[in-house]
Amino acid sequence: MAAAAVEEIRASSYVGFDTITRQIEHKLLKRGFQFNVIVVGQTGLGKSTLINTIFASHLIDSKGRLEHDEPIRQTTEIQAVSHVIVENGVKLRLNIVDTPGYGDQINNEGCWDPIVKYIKDQHSSYLRKELTAQRDRYIQDTRIHCCLFFINPTGHSLRPIDVIVMKKLSEVVNVVPVIAKADSLTLEERLKFKERIRAELVYHNIKLYPFDNTDDYDEEEAQLNERIRDIIPFAVVGSERNVIIDGKAVRGRKNRWGVINVEDESHCEFVYLRNFLTRTHLQDLIETTALIHYEAFRSKQLLLLKNQAAGNPSPPPAQ
Ligand code: GDP
Repeated sequence: MAAAAVEEIRASSYVGFDTITRQIEHKLLKRGFQFNVIVVGQTGLGKSTLINTIFASHLIDSKGRLEHDEPIRQTTEIQAVSHVIVENGVKLRLNIVDTPGYGDQINNEGCWDPIVKYIKDQHSSYLRKELTAQRDRYIQDTRIHCCLFFINPTGHSLRPIDVIVMKKLSEVVNVVPVIAKADSLTLEERLKFKERIRAELVYHNIKLYPFDNTDDYDEEEAQLNERIRDIIPFAVVGSERNVIIDGKAVRGRKNRWGVINVEDESHCEFVYLRNFLTRTHLQDLIETTALIHYEAFRSKQLLLLKNQAAGNPSPPPAQ
């Protein structure tokens, strides 16, 4: 057969669906991404500072204020702050939910309730929108994709309250624990503290993100998750100030004994956390929220609705 004829057959047998990745990319880029993070931890542990360091801008003020003249919030009033960050044409809509004051009281009994309720309320509102007959094509997603849980850098062990709260939260959201202000521990203390925390998590059967369900991940992703599990909890240092190291301005903290470069991997694990959140696991955190946490909530609610419609009394709410 003449070469031209072969070429023609080839050309006509070309269906063209291999452009789908470009089509998906175009659609996703146009729409942008929604990423919702909740921060939990005692006042003064550096929550606002770390968030601002990760996303490289002044997103929230210390004490959870958006404006300097706003009064300081004393209670565990939960507040979401929205931002749009654009990098190379990719739009990230970021919701940061601050929970000031968690664990600050002498009696912390039930202090996690408003946080768990907030997370469930977002699931509930998403479900309501999903069930609306003429629902929007695109539902505004306020479901929390990641909970950054701040651990006090005591160097000893988790506080009993932290164990309870991490357990409660891990049932409804992807929990990522961080050791705050890691510059207050020596490298040796930090290593021991991390090991102790990991052992406590195992002992209390607290299953944190990334989960161990190998079916959902290919080999490369599974290996990456394994490495992440070896690092967690991330020992981090945050700073909104630049310091000069070797003539270059870097994010860092200067104290009497020297300078900590936040972005230096031999100083702390900030870079690992930032890469994990924004580069390697952003999409998976969003997917896991929809497929695991929201799905569990949704099926429970739908079963409840079905029972109610059938006239069966609803079971008492789960504790
Ligand atoms: P939040 O109440 O948890 O939001 O804490 P802030 O972000 O307001 O931080 C409280 C104080 O701790 C501020 O003076 C920060 O400069 C300081 N701080 C924040 N991160 C760190 C850190 O990693 N190491 C040290 N040593 N201090 C920090």
